Amino acid sequence: MHHFLARADFPAMLETLAAAGFTCIGPQVRQGSIVFDQLHEVAQLPQGWQDEQQPGSYRLHQTGSPYWFDWANGASAIKPYTFAPQESLWKAVRDESGRLHFKTILPKPQKTAILGVRACDLAALAIQDQHFLHGTYPDPYYQQRRENLLLIGVNCTHAAATCFCVSTGDGPDILDGYDLLLSETAEGFVLQTGSEQGQQIADQLPLAQATQEQLLTAQERMQPARQQQRSLPDKPPLYDKLQHTHWQEVGARCLACGNCTSVCPTCFCHQEVEHPALDGTGSTHERLWNSCFDPNHSYIHGGAVRRSHADYYRQWLTHKLAGWHEQFGRSGCTGCGRCITWCPVGIDLTEEVGSLTT
Ligand code: SF4
Ligand code: SF4
Repeated sequence: MHHFLARADFPAMLETLAAAGFTCIGPQVRQGSIVFDQLHEVAQLPQGWQDEQQPGSYRLHQTGSPYWFDWANGASAIKPYTFAPQESLWKAVRDESGRLHFKTILPKPQKTAILGVRACDLAALAIQDQHFLHGTYPDPYYQQRRENLLLIGVNCTHAAATCFCVSTGDGPDILDGYDLLLSETAEGFVLQTGSEQGQQIADQLPLAQATQEQLLTAQERMQPARQQQRSLPDKPPLYDKLQHTHWQEVGARCLACGNCTSVCPTCFCHQEVEHPALDGTGSTHERLWNSCFDPNHSYIHGGAVRRSHADYYRQWLTHKLAGWHEQFGRSGCTGCGRCITWCPVGIDLTEEVGSLTT
């Protein structure tokens, strides 16, 4: 069933979420980019803002439109809300007799509603769920945050020049993984529910039944996002290209900064660091995001296996687009385009794949 929430009634959504105990996170303009941060009122939403993205470039401009969600995506996916960039996992405490006691430090997340989640990021979250929750040892840190999330998806009406979610099969239409789903029109939002939790919120909103005209308008508004996209071939044969000279060419440009893995909504590599107290009374064990572009990422006894920027990039791309099919049954890329936009030297995933495979 499709409902309609008038734009003037949208504050009721934020009030209902707050009354149900959710901290609301939503998109807003900050330092020239769309970011997710705590949302207290509708006035914080990025009304009329639209992004222009190119390899190594992200710019916002004001269109003067009434729309709040007429942008593609910003640097940050929703990854930090489930997989924390930095967190303490456990600590060891030495008692007076000298014995060590180990204590797990589990997060105590608040109920969090994220408004404005895109199709590519919901698809990425499903991959992260596979990695963190559905293996032999579910990750309790991720699990605690994930169980406290309410996801409000918004269908895209605009694709950046770096987007290719159509070719990965992940967007721009949101098909699942949401609690509530919105499609924006000038007058308001076509609203669908995707879970019991979403239904409970929807039941408290001043909704009308969506008319055929509203449904048609919402569909038509999504057409540009479906059409203005670049593409990536399915399963590019990268295992056959391990000795290709193009890896060296990309390696000569790559700074090994790790921006691409930080912004990627599916990357999950991390390092673990010990912080011992100087007086020897205890120690805290931390997990931090890490990257296959870190020279220490492939360090094993005697040295690092991958030693050059070309090695790092080959590892990243080959794992993401080839190895993940064996590991997770699908590509590790959902076509968000962030690694292209936020690479400071404009290394371009779809272009590089083209150079490697043609
Ligand atoms: S590899 Fe690049 S385009 Fe694909 S999901 Fe990661 S950041 Fe997005
Ligand atoms: S590909 Fe670009 S973003 Fe990734 S590590 Fe190299 S320079 Fe940084």
